[in-house]
Amino acid sequence: MLRAIRQKLDAVNYYSAERERTGWTRLREAALPVTLLITLPVVGLINLTVRQPVDGHEVTGTFYRSDHGSLIASFYDLENPSAATGATANFGRDHEGRRYAGSFTLRTQHADRGWPLVTSVQQLPLAGSVDLIGSSSRLNFRALTADHPAREAIDTAIEDARAPAVILTADRSVHETSPYPLRWVGSAMIWWALLYLGLSVALMAAELITTRIQRRIAFRARRLRKQGRCPSCGYDLRGLEFSERCPECGDLSW
Ligand SMILES: [Zn+2]
Repeated sequence: MLRAIRQKLDAVNYYSAERERTGWTRLREAALPVTLLITLPVVGLINLTVRQPVDGHEVTGTFYRSDHGSLIASFYDLENPSAATGATANFGRDHEGRRYAGSFTLRTQHADRGWPLVTSVQQLPLAGSVDLIGSSSRLNFRALTADHPAREAIDTAIEDARAPAVILTADRSVHETSPYPLRWVGSAMIWWALLYLGLSVALMAAELITTRIQRRIAFRARRLRKQGRCPSCGYDLRGLEFSERCPECGDLSW
């Protein structure tokens, strides 16, 4: 029992003894401060590049065509259903005699930025789609130019406050806020750990591969020397035992 413990302690002492410092041990020691140094730029870069759009409220509405042909947007207001004017199938006209011209869906949206923790929030313009009668495909609201009739109709409805409160009060200016200072710290800690882990594994793999290659080269040189050949180029040196250098490659041969 005591002997077993002593053997264990010896083993611990052996493995924790100071090793000869090689280039590899120095690299491993440098990995911690180096990864710390690049952590903040990495977190900043990830905050810039990783963005996850998050939908807020969604509202819908219909388009009507006025008698002189222009489009009018009318929101469905769920909080105020009496204001909703759906297109009843009365030969394409509703009870006020307006001609149905299509429908639309709008979403408030923001983007969560950063990974693995959300480090900042970017406010985004309204998103959604527009379906116009006579148009073969559904249109992306964000892609509509400011003078597109559907866009103009919706903008006018919002300007005239003929839209639900979630749209009227939505912050649509594109800007970024950073409401989570602690998450920057958390993200930095996680990235430091990940980077350090990654670099350590890469260094270990590189060290393993180099030692293998070195061993293989040494093995080959030993084998060639045994066969009486130059350990660098394999040139047959039998009968040339007295020359110091290989006549083929000029390397020291013995
Ligand atoms: Zn040689």
